[in-house]
Amino acid sequence: MFEKFLSGIFNSSDYDFDEVHVHDEVIDSILHYARSADPNEFMALLDGRIDNKVLIITGLIFLPVESSYEGVIMNTGMLPVTMKNWGSVHSHPGPSALPSNTDLDSFAKRGVFHMIVCRPYGVDDIMAYNKYGENISYKIVKTPLDELI
Ligand code: ZN
Repeated sequence: MFEKFLSGIFNSSDYDFDEVHVHDEVIDSILHYARSADPNEFMALLDGRIDNKVLIITGLIFLPVESSYEGVIMNTGMLPVTMKNWGSVHSHPGPSALPSNTDLDSFAKRGVFHMIVCRPYGVDDIMAYNKYGENISYKIVKTPLDELI
């Protein structure tokens, strides 16, 4: 059990995927929280799983955040150890969803898929990046009924 737990964290093939799907409920939540937080930034971690080399983003994880001059910093020390850190989403209360240098640093440190949404917070204002800050595409898929709460 303990071994399985460790390999789950350290085996990098666990993070092997060719495609990213994001549930439409997650997109709706991102847009909702980004609009509600404006003119401040909103930030959350992404919950998900990999099925047949498809990374599926199924939910948002909120952790305590600290505001700084560089924006919002999330206390990832609060993340339950059993939870994978797939990536993050945050908003830019401005016209650009391009990552800042601070964003690129944090993308590189943890997670494999990151999203930034800028004003006016529509679906087309969401940009997605890999850990190197390179733009990657994703597909919005319908949230399965049994996963709706
Ligand atoms: Zn940013």
